[in-house]
Order: sequence, then structure tokens, then C-alpha cells
Amino acid sequence: MVVCLCLLALVYAISGGGQGRETESRGEAPSAPFRQPNVLLISIDTLRADHLGCYGYARDTSPHIDTLAREGALFRWAIASGSRTLPSHVALFTSVYAPIHGADLPNKRLENRLPVLPGVLKDAGYATLGFYSGHFLRPQDGFARGFDHYYNCSTYVKPGDEVVHDVIFNRTPGPDEVPGSTNPLILGSLESWLEKPPQEPFFAFVHIWDVHMPYAPPSPYDKMFPQGDGLDPYERAIALYDGGIRATDEMIGDVLELLRNHGVLDRTLIILTSDHGEEFSDHGQMGHAKTLFDESIRVPLVMRLPGVIRPGLKIESQVRLIDVFPTVLEIVRRPPPSSIFGVSLLPALDGRKKDIDLPPAYSSLRTLPGRDNPPLRSLRTSRWKIIERQDTKEITFYDLTADPKEQAGVAPRESARAREALAVFREHIKLLDDLGDTEGVAAETEAPEKDPELMERLRSLGYVK
Ligand SMILES: [Zn+2]
Repeated sequence: MVVCLCLLALVYAISGGGQGRETESRGEAPSAPFRQPNVLLISIDTLRADHLGCYGYARDTSPHIDTLAREGALFRWAIASGSRTLPSHVALFTSVYAPIHGADLPNKRLENRLPVLPGVLKDAGYATLGFYSGHFLRPQDGFARGFDHYYNCSTYVKPGDEVVHDVIFNRTPGPDEVPGSTNPLILGSLESWLEKPPQEPFFAFVHIWDVHMPYAPPSPYDKMFPQGDGLDPYERAIALYDGGIRATDEMIGDVLELLRNHGVLDRTLIILTSDHGEEFSDHGQMGHAKTLFDESIRVPLVMRLPGVIRPGLKIESQVRLIDVFPTVLEIVRRPPPSSIFGVSLLPALDGRKKDIDLPPAYSSLRTLPGRDNPPLRSLRTSRWKIIERQDTKEITFYDLTADPKEQAGVAPRESARAREALAVFREHIKLLDDLGDTEGVAAETEAPEKDPELMERLRSLGYVK
């Protein structure tokens, strides 16, 4: 991806850091009692935004996350780059989309050629530690890179063994395996580490699995929400899913308390998000990695850092998970690597900007071996969304203002607005494809190349300023 890397580097060099300029942020955050805060990035796997109280859900699933949102800022419309765990986390860690990182293809991993958030922070002097659950963020998937310590906190592990793969399919663990939720493992590991005492500044990544299938929250959360008459499997699944959220929310409360007790909470940037949502027959299916409708790609995004992030903000502008990486770097005052596609959200978080104007959110999903989901890609703005089936080229347009649940999609020929949106869609898709072709295999260290035409397209579509 050398063309884009170098062009973006040039732009950052000229502009002093792209959209979120380092010089501006330095001037805006003088009250912070630290130069480089700690960073805690929490990814609650499979958590759709609209099942949290702070996103308007009727059930009381998330009292601690709601408090975190009140003390910090909440992005109402945060969009993941897909609906599968591995590629979505790759985008979060690298701030690039699938056509360039390539990890949405079967059996692909996070490759070494792209800088990752923990690695950049490690180079900046951070102690880095990760706690992962489930079976897609393993060291062999490429996710340990940049971490001083990377702990396996997966459910159903044998002592000293790798993760058993079939938990997602509700497999019964064997007699020598240890069943249990990942929350206690993560909390205990984090506590041990904090008691050393921790080297600061630190970056901690916490990946929580308990909301994910098979929806088996521990007591009393398994009966916390009504399951109807038990005959409707969706109603029952949703009640258990919500119970898993509440159980995880309690653990989030414990983590924050832990940081508070160790005296580091208010100098730690807390970021809470998810890699994708979950379907409960919103469009006739169950689970995720099947579609790109909002229930699969709209995720929570909450950030807290007293003295830097204005408390109580609810930011309406649509943002993307790829924007997390540059946001962290601007807050810790480090220049972003030239590879990244995201934009720092700090101007919205510290109140400098009410709205933040970003390119549409791109998401994609491939067909995996043994699955029958169609390959899809989508482009979403706050007003509209286009979803394309990559195999048949069939395109559906949704007017999200009139049809927020994406129930009444139309073919672009049926509406003038859809035809306009389609033209925008094609421009972005073409650019991402061209960048993928040009940069997909190039090394980060290659010499700069000039491509004014590609540069101009990146600029005109809003990827660089
Ligand atoms: Zn996931």
C-alpha cells in the first residue's frame, strides 16, 4: 500500500497531523494533569449498540456503561467495518479497511506489514498488555504483535492448551475442560497486573466474549430478563443475550473500580466498543457474519478521559471504528502512521467541533468456507446506505431517515436519491479497490512514490484533508 502510505505521510507532514492536528490538541488540553494518559481499550464482542441503556434500550442492561457514557462521550452512530470478529478487529487495530488489510479472506490473519495500535504505543514507551477471549484474536491470528504480554482468557480452555474452537457452535466442553465465562479470568488477570504496580503509561486491551453465542450468562443474569413463555426462541435468546450484557456490565464496573482503587482511573483514557452487533431475526436470521444491516455493524463507542473529553457529550455525527486508532494517538500526542485511513475524533470529544465530517462508513463481508452468506459490501452515511452483493452485483438502497430498520430497500433505478448515492458508492468502492490493488502487498518501508491522481481522489472523497 505504498502509494497511499506515502501520500498520506506527505499530507500529514504538510498539515501537521491531518484533520486532528497535533498542534491544536496540544493547545486544547492544558488542564490534563499528565502528558500521556494510560489507555484501556475494551472490546465487548458481539455487542449491538441498541441493547445498551445509553443507546436508548428499554431494559436496564448497562448501568455501569451508562455511567461511563455520562462521565465521558458517546458516539451515537459508530460503524464497524464488517460483521466478523477477526477482520473487524484488524480494522480497529490498523485503521484500514478490508480491501487493503486483506484479513477478511478465509484463513487470513493480521499481517506484519501494517502498523498496529499496540505496537505504535509500545514504540512510544507504553507498557502494553492484552487480554483476549474467544478464538479469533490468538497470537497465531497476528494479534499479539506490539504487546509485552498477551493473555489468553478464553472460555473452555484446558490448562496450558489452546482455545477450543467450537464454543461458538454451542459445543459441550469435554470433562477435562474448564467451563466458565471469560469475565472473571480477565478481571483477575488485570488485577494481578495492576498490583505489581503497573508501569505507566500503559495500554491495555480487553476483549470480552461473554455476550457472544451461546448466550449462557451465569446466574442470576440468566433469569434477569423475562423470556416470555419460553416458546419463542428469539425472545428467549434476546433475554439471555441481554443477561450476558448485564453480567459483562457488572464486570466493566469492577474494572473501573479496580482502576479507581489503584489511583489510575482519571489518567486513563477508557474506550469501550464492540467489533460487530448481532441479529435476532431483524432480517430473518440469527447471529452475525451474515449481513451488513445495522444490527450487525452499528456498535457502541464510548470514551472517557477527564480534563480532555468533555463529559456528557452525545455525538450525532457518524464515525467509524477505524477512527479509534488516530483518536488515541492524538490524545497521547503521537503522530499517526502514514498507513491509516481513519481520522482523529478528538475535535468532537473536546468540544472544538460539534459535528465531524467524515467519509461514508465502508463495511464488507466475504463468504467463508462452509457458510452460505453472500459476499457483501456497504457504504453508509447518516442519511442513506447502499449494500451490494459482490457476486451478483445486485444493489439495494436504504433511506435511513425514512426507513431506519432497513426494511424497504429499493433498487437505485427507482429513486433519484438512490441514483445519486450509487454514484458516490461507486467512487468510494473504486478508490478502495484501486488502493487495495496498488498497496496490498507493498512493504511499509518502501520508498515514497508520487501519484497525484490517487492523491486527488483521496482528497476529493474526504479521506485526507
Ligand atoms: Zn466478534
